[in-house]
Amino acid sequence: MRTLITNIAELTTNVPTGGDLTGTLNDAAVLIEGERIAWAGPAADAPAADEVVDVDGRAVIPGFVDSHSHLVFAGDRAAEFEARMAGQKYAAGGIRSTVSATRAATDDELRARLRGFLDEMLAQGTTTVEIKSGYGLSVTDEERLVRLAAEVTPEVTFLGAHVVPADYADRPDEYVDLVTGPMLDACAPHSKWIDVFCETGAFTVTQSRRVLESGIARGLVPRVHASQLGPGEGVRLAVELGAASIDHGTYLTDADVDALADSHTVLTLLPGVEFSTRQPYPNARRLIDAGVTVALACDTNPGSSFTSSMPFCIAVAVRDMGMTPAEAVWAATAGGAMALRRDDVGVIAPGARADLVLLDAPTRIHLAYRPGVPLVRTVWKDGRAIG
Ligand SMILES: [Zn+2]
Repeated sequence: MRTLITNIAELTTNVPTGGDLTGTLNDAAVLIEGERIAWAGPAADAPAADEVVDVDGRAVIPGFVDSHSHLVFAGDRAAEFEARMAGQKYAAGGIRSTVSATRAATDDELRARLRGFLDEMLAQGTTTVEIKSGYGLSVTDEERLVRLAAEVTPEVTFLGAHVVPADYADRPDEYVDLVTGPMLDACAPHSKWIDVFCETGAFTVTQSRRVLESGIARGLVPRVHASQLGPGEGVRLAVELGAASIDHGTYLTDADVDALADSHTVLTLLPGVEFSTRQPYPNARRLIDAGVTVALACDTNPGSSFTSSMPFCIAVAVRDMGMTPAEAVWAATAGGAMALRRDDVGVIAPGARADLVLLDAPTRIHLAYRPGVPLVRTVWKDGRAIG
């Protein structure tokens, strides 16, 4: 089956043309064949197809690649959010309340919640999702979380080192022994990535190094939560160990920025976190101008960022972080793909997965220009139209 999507006013391909990273084409068309993209180019040159979808002068972008989420959990922390908005400060320890609720939930309860989030994300244009564990924090529970995540995505991250659980509060190094030993043994078969929360109140840089190196030794690729609550050494550790991404980066030193600019490590910014914890936004302009590769992700989780909306993150990145709409859309698609080391998503080019989003707007600028408005009209996931 060959489906031609035509009369696209603005097509973001993310295939660089000249100096334009977004490879934008006007009056364009895309041909889908099965699960893949077969062709993209000027509508006037479009090849024949079995079916033609005329999008009537709207914009098409690649499906969003959300490279950072924590979707396997139970419970709710609305009261904590309410208290924070009333002036209470965010601290990493709130994770423990989600851990208690998650441990008490059955596999089917977690699965139902997880599938609900994925449907919610797909409706908002997200076609690739990375999912972390980190609310089990015991061998059995972490294994459960990566196993459930692996049912729905290949992008599974083992984050046993999310926070030190209450039962290990006064012996964190013993907890690191558990994470790098039996817990890793149980989780590595279901995981592609190893992650650690390198931050005051979570894990030190020495403990973080142990966690990441143990994962690398098992064939997992590192990604790191760092510099969310204050500056630290996590960014440089991530770069040194060849991490695919460092995530948060709210507080970066000049040395961090230089290290990132000289590396293949992506910086994944998570504007939903700053929004929901009332932290200052990172200056994406400074990072992009310094040559850092920036991705945008939602960090969907019940504590610090309970949005699953990439359009929302794009709007905030443009409004408050100094990104242009083109840069923000690139970061939410191609940037996310780079953070997951994928070249088959985040791009509209022959051979890539047919993951596309039709916006009810003539240009992607509307994603930031019309914040909060549901502009995602149709999503194609693996060539199948949804919505
Ligand atoms: Zn996170």
